[in-house]
This record gives sequence, structure tokens and C-alpha cells, in this order.
Amino acid sequence: MHTGEYGWVTEHGETIHLKDDDCPVSSAIMKGDRKARQVHIETAREEGYQICRHCWKEFQEDLGELMGGSLEESD
Ligand SMILES: [Zn+2]
Repeated sequence: MHTGEYGWVTEHGETIHLKDDDCPVSSAIMKGDRKARQVHIETAREEGYQICRHCWKEFQEDLGELMGGSLEESD
């Protein structure tokens, strides 16, 4: 699960990466192997950036958890 409203765009990159080490790019950024600038996810999307495919999957899952919760875990 990613954390917060902020993600990263790598140097010369055109995709947003979330702060989730399931994505190999995000993992590299966290380790300091890749340079990236921090962006506000929604703002960057309005500017035309797209969330990387790897991160998007996580993002959707997180939204699902926020909106609907888990049926399996309901009382
Ligand atoms: Zn990514």
C-alpha cells in the first residue's frame, strides 16, 4: 500500500511513481539509486502525468480499500 498524497517523478520521467516499494522504480528511488522529484499526485495528474502501470494497480487497490472496505472482514 502506498502512503500519502505524494509520489515521485523521475528525472525526464513522464510517469508518477507512488511511495510503494512494490514498484521497482519507487524502490530504486527510496534506496537513492534514482533521482526523482516529489510531486502531489493529483496535481501532477492534472498536468498530464500518468501513474506508472505498476503503481496504478496499487493505487486502485488502495482506493478500493478506502471506499468500500473489505467485505471479507466485515462483521
Ligand atoms: Zn511505479
